[in-house]
Amino acid sequence: MEKYDVTIIGSGPGGYVAAIRCAQLGMKTAVIEKYNSLGGTCLNVGCIPSKALLDSSEHYHNAIHNFKEHGIEISEANINFTQMIERKTKVIDQTVAGIDFLMKKNKITVYQGHGSFISPIMLSIKKTDGTEEQIESTKIIIATGSKPAMLPSIAIDKKRIITSTEALSLPELPKTMVIIGGGVIGLELGSVYQRLGTEVSVIEYMDKIIPTMDDDMGKELQRSLKKLGIKFYLSHKVTGAINNGDNVTVSALDKKEQEIKLDAEYCLVAIGRKAYTENLGLDKIGIKTTERGQIEVNDHLQTSAENIYAVGDVVRGAMLAHKASEEGVLVAEYIAGQKPHINYNLIPGVVYTWPEVASVGYTETQLKEKGIAYKVGSFPMRALGRARASMDIDGLVKVLADKETDEILGVHMIGARAADLIAEAVVAMEFRASAEDIGRISHAHPTYTEALKEAALAATDNRALHV
Ligand code: FAD
Ligand code: NAD
Repeated sequence: MEKYDVTIIGSGPGGYVAAIRCAQLGMKTAVIEKYNSLGGTCLNVGCIPSKALLDSSEHYHNAIHNFKEHGIEISEANINFTQMIERKTKVIDQTVAGIDFLMKKNKITVYQGHGSFISPIMLSIKKTDGTEEQIESTKIIIATGSKPAMLPSIAIDKKRIITSTEALSLPELPKTMVIIGGGVIGLELGSVYQRLGTEVSVIEYMDKIIPTMDDDMGKELQRSLKKLGIKFYLSHKVTGAINNGDNVTVSALDKKEQEIKLDAEYCLVAIGRKAYTENLGLDKIGIKTTERGQIEVNDHLQTSAENIYAVGDVVRGAMLAHKASEEGVLVAEYIAGQKPHINYNLIPGVVYTWPEVASVGYTETQLKEKGIAYKVGSFPMRALGRARASMDIDGLVKVLADKETDEILGVHMIGARAADLIAEAVVAMEFRASAEDIGRISHAHPTYTEALKEAALAATDNRALHV
């Protein structure tokens, strides 16, 4: 029987990154993945394919709506949806091939099959052909990720009533789509389809979209997405969805308990994701899951079994690829005797709509709840020369700083390239910068980064220069 120092179950951004770091630190490492393709949700049916379709649909949208103003006249722009989906698949294949290469380069053994515990140090690997292999491992890292959450009143049939996985590979461009959930997946995939001409309606249970982010971001994003044509039904409670063959009827109750019915070719259910531990054999090793199905871990991501760790979507915290990867690195380094640390408050969150939304640190609501006195500086993107040059004037940057010390406590932004701009805020906050620090750092002109400098100046002493 093969013996390893560390075995990781699951090859998503939590699992494969943990494996690489373990191998770098000299451990004999194996990864077990039940699918044929490495990379997990993120590479196969998550981050990468959704961004590929967001980019393709944005090109189309710009061609038909914005090129003319730039002085570029095209007679017509047509969508070849099959080609768009094929390009997305190629991007996945290239990215997955990159992980295969990294596994080989780092001499990590990859087992294809369903992994489960026989004992705290013994794992079974069941392959698709029905055969089974067993391996022994001193340490084991569970990185089995998550699956879409379901509504008890709605049966996902994967044909008309679908999850994000099917929405990334539809056989045709829909004319209409109802999306249940105004969170990250709903708004990113809703943007893809609305840009391509699908009439998209979003039903959201809360009274705002992206409810976990700063309120101003949700309001501003909703304004932009309404301009794009997406219809919103906020404060609506979905009661059911029926597949009628060629279309779906979704019913919901509004605040006054009045029923609405929406018909569409597809209904995408995007109400969150649930930790995945099915048939993992956790009962055999005495590891319990929480009410939400997550594996409980301590600050070192160690489970109740001393030699077993868990990282990524399967444990508490934001369900984000980069959070999973940081945790993978943390566990590898902890096992190697180092003292790694993650500041969970500084894991940035990004929504890849247009404009993009990005955020790090506390929201205003959280600061109020914590009773922390703070000051706000904000700066509108439309006041930037760079934004006017590219015609991307929607959005703002908001800096929240401690009222007494001026330390930056949160940065929230919506606008062009916010996904990349947020990195500066993360670095600043990791080094516990004050708003004035950012305000005094030279930012190249003309760039979108100037909006962060100006918002920081606004927070310092209302010293923004260009408003
Ligand atoms: P996963 O990526 O889910 O990987 C778990 C792996 O474990 C899977 O490959 C699974 O097959 C395997 N597995 C499970 N059980 C077993 C078993 N018993 N034996 C063997 N293998 C097993 N996050 C971002 O940060 N940015 C984004 O832009 C982004 N976009 C997203 C878009 C969509 C549509 C979705 C659905 C998610 C998106 N996410 C994004 C979230 C991101 O994909 C997850 O947070 C991330 O993949 C979690 O990584 P993980 O390693 O914990 O789990
Ligand atoms: P989410 O938590 O972002 O949004 C779910 C939304 O559905 C919320 O607004 C919630 O209020 C709403 N909702 C819940 N129950 C409902 C109901 N019964 N009726 C109507 N609305 C309901 O979850 P998601 O969009 O499914 O995404 C899942 C996870 O994947 C997220 O945690 C996210 O972190 C991750 N993800 C990240 C990215 C990114 O980083 N850009 C992109 C996609 C997904």
